[in-house]
Amino acid sequence: MSAPITQDVLTIPRKLPDTGRTNIVGLSREQLLEALVAAGTPERQAKMRVGQVWQWIYHWGVRDFAQMTNLAKDYRQLLADKFEITLPEIVSRQVSTDGTRKYLVRIAGGHEVEVVYIPEEGRGTLCVSSQVGCTLTCSFCHTGTQKLVRNLTAGEIVGQLLLARDDLGEWPVQGAPKDETRLISNMVLMGMGEPLYNFENVRDAMKIVMDNEGLSLSRRRITLSTSGVVPEIARTAEEIGCLLAVSFHATTDEVRNKLVPINKRWNIETLLNALRDYPRLTNSERITFEYVMLAGVNDTDEDAHRLVELIRGIPAKINLIPFNEWPGAPYKRSSNNRIHAFADIIYKAGYASPIRTPRGEDIMAACGQLKSATERGRKSRAAIAAEAAE
Ligand code: SAH
Ligand code: SF4
Repeated sequence: MSAPITQDVLTIPRKLPDTGRTNIVGLSREQLLEALVAAGTPERQAKMRVGQVWQWIYHWGVRDFAQMTNLAKDYRQLLADKFEITLPEIVSRQVSTDGTRKYLVRIAGGHEVEVVYIPEEGRGTLCVSSQVGCTLTCSFCHTGTQKLVRNLTAGEIVGQLLLARDDLGEWPVQGAPKDETRLISNMVLMGMGEPLYNFENVRDAMKIVMDNEGLSLSRRRITLSTSGVVPEIARTAEEIGCLLAVSFHATTDEVRNKLVPINKRWNIETLLNALRDYPRLTNSERITFEYVMLAGVNDTDEDAHRLVELIRGIPAKINLIPFNEWPGAPYKRSSNNRIHAFADIIYKAGYASPIRTPRGEDIMAACGQLKSATERGRKSRAAIAAEAAE
């Protein structure tokens, strides 16, 4: 694409140095308390110290113990000796003509994941990754062509939000009037990976993100997207309580088996049964059904009618995603007319059916286009096309 983009490439060492210090980012309050006590904090002070350190890091965005001015100087030194406040490092940042920013971020071991910031009228959404690669192989997804390398730690998941706030300069200034407008007002777990295959780390990270004395993002502003890992759906309601999006994408098991192969394990009916309980468990919120529009594959009027029949009774919104093409992809995007006709049927059946505007396409930041350069090419294009045609 010819649209001008900017790109900064930062030169950093390929391997993060191992300092032997404990990284505080990603520790729960309980873990931090234990660690502070183990480092010599008197037990009776420990809870208060947790609160202070927590606020410095997650409310004020401080990265240096020396700046934690309500702590005694020798205590700050003790913290600096035993702990660190480390985030994944931004390797490159691309800014799209539409304002979308895509960060390539390096985590321990030299692996890379992508983080995308999408500014919109009145809100801004950060799309974070939960795994390096993905074990699932959805045939229309670029990440699905990449093998799973590893799960991200809770610290690496929270760290994506911290580094984006650093880059956007979004930390409160002490003494300045409180500013309620937030550049990053929403967060979606829709980057690389299947969040429900990394449940504990995702849950622990979201608890930090939702903590009221820190990043303080409400659970209603966090959306977790799953391809349909049924046993973890009720757990998500109970242990995280965020909004849920489901990569639905097809209205028959035959087609969904090809597009979202996890369907062979938990089919449409099993998935829908799990979804029916979710809104009740989390206080009657709507579930977002994501539906990628693939020309000639899942986009007929019959599909639209079947879709509304299937989800009947579930409070839902259907998010239609025009397929984002990537080099070698075995599908084409449905035409605009087709997408609108499909949306219309759903809308007339009583469901909101927004068509997602692809964002950051010029920098390959749109849904399903994420894939880091280091992990590229693990699976051949031919293999993907063959699977899709099975
Ligand atoms: N693994 C999770 C979350 C990441 S994918 C999941 O599958 O839900 C985020 C969304 O982007 C999913 O709905 C996914 O199906 C969709 N997606 C993947 N590749 C896409 C592509 N090439 N074009 C449009 N949407 C895509
Ligand atoms: Fe993995 Fe989601 Fe892509 Fe499927 S759509 S391969 S689950 S990241």
